[in-house]
Amino acid sequence: MNEFFSPGKVYVIGIGPGSENQMTLFALKTIEQCQVIIGYDTYIDLIKHLLKPSQEVVRAGMTEEVYRAQKTIELAKEGKIVGVISSGDAGLYGMAGLIFEVLHKMQFPGKIDVQVVPGVTALISAASLLGAPVMHDFCAISLSDHLTPWNTIEKRLVHAAMGDFVLTLYNPKSSRRKEQINIAQNILLQYRNPENPVGIVTSAYRPDQNIVITDLNHMLEFPAGMMTTILIGNSQTRVIDGKMITPRGYQKKYQLHQNIQDIKKSDRMNITHEPWALQKEKQNSEMQTGLEINLMKNIPKRVLHKYYIKTKGSLNQSSADSEKILNAGFLSVLGKFLSTDSRIEATPDGRLFLLCHEIDIETMEKLDSEGLYLYDDEEYILIKTCNFCDGEKPESLVWLDILNKSLADIHVPGQLHIGFNGCGMSCHGAVMEDIGIVYFRGEFEVYIGGKKMGRNVRLPLHTHLHLSGEEMISIVMNLVARYKNEGFEKEKFFKYILRVSGQVV
Ligand code: SAH
Repeated sequence: MNEFFSPGKVYVIGIGPGSENQMTLFALKTIEQCQVIIGYDTYIDLIKHLLKPSQEVVRAGMTEEVYRAQKTIELAKEGKIVGVISSGDAGLYGMAGLIFEVLHKMQFPGKIDVQVVPGVTALISAASLLGAPVMHDFCAISLSDHLTPWNTIEKRLVHAAMGDFVLTLYNPKSSRRKEQINIAQNILLQYRNPENPVGIVTSAYRPDQNIVITDLNHMLEFPAGMMTTILIGNSQTRVIDGKMITPRGYQKKYQLHQNIQDIKKSDRMNITHEPWALQKEKQNSEMQTGLEINLMKNIPKRVLHKYYIKTKGSLNQSSADSEKILNAGFLSVLGKFLSTDSRIEATPDGRLFLLCHEIDIETMEKLDSEGLYLYDDEEYILIKTCNFCDGEKPESLVWLDILNKSLADIHVPGQLHIGFNGCGMSCHGAVMEDIGIVYFRGEFEVYIGGKKMGRNVRLPLHTHLHLSGEEMISIVMNLVARYKNEGFEKEKFFKYILRVSGQVV
């Protein structure tokens, strides 16, 4: 016996999903060296063929964890080498913590040495059978409320869903706990797409192993029980050739099918190729005013919701963001449900947003019928118009309508603001928007890539003058299509256009 395995020591051993093939060598060797093995019946059965007749076995039922821990310490006190076995890893929903706690309470601190022997936890075993669904920031939540208040579990589900973590659900369901998984699905559906991939693995690496790949919407249609682990992908997770894959992000920088890369080796950490990185974000951040930051600090995010406001113009029925007239109709609807901590603010670029408690669908519909449209997604093409000199210069409105309809179903990678002004006065500053359109004496002008505020204020990078309506539409639609295809995820238009500016015509 080597010194590591000394008498009177406790080993808390994670045996992974089961058989010795999936056990760490460390766990296997430790089991070999223990004089007593103590554990829950099912786990003892899984490893019993590894035990020698000389090894004492103490079996205990499932709800007898505290007894197991006390017994372990007593046996160690007698000078035995004791191995406590847990499935997966003993430090995750396993026996490790309890052994330390009981040892402390039984007041032999320091006299008995405890060694945690790491094992392959269910989320890793399950992931290996599904493909590569973890790959990125993740968290694990157990749906068992036998020892954890359900309120706490719900709060963690909400935050994991909001944080776009790959989420693993342990203990999703048992004969006594059937409702929890339904509530979890409901919470997730509030923050994630119904198509968000989901993997369900039961009895990983055991004879009755079962693997299902489905989505959030359909996950409850498949059996799940005490031996099931459920993996919910993040918003980037995809099912590729029958495997559940969460991209690490390489595809944003590299051509995965080319062996010669466009970005030189020496240039790969350069921030111009990482527009999503902290340094760049800081340079370009302009959306948060000090006021917003303070509000966000003081008010828990989950309580107050931020809705951007669009008001339907009286002049045009397009959904363009125009006059921002808060008419009495929707002010009275708003007044009925807003609480005292709600407020309307303006962003630095003149958009209005409402901070208030979450608004139900019925109220949303009422507001919509009054001419107020609320949205909370910033990945959005926003058309900002002037008020066409109170309707005295309506000639270009027909083209605004065409533009609006052409853009209606297009999803772009990040924010794109289009300014549309109905005369040469360009009162609302369209010229300096991402794409600015000015109607002037029967012709259009298109300005591309301006930035009207922020530390990197700049004039438009490209200008097209004397255009017909058709030409204006074609230039804008081309540009939007290129941004859609070439823009990195969440890359705002003003960053995109600078990145590719040499090429844009
Ligand atoms: N300590 C263990 C977890 C114990 S909690 C570990 O690290 O894996 C029990 C839960 O673990 C089960 O409800 C199930 O969600 C998961 N689990 C354990 N073994 C599993 C297996 N072979 N296949 C799938 N899930 C498993």
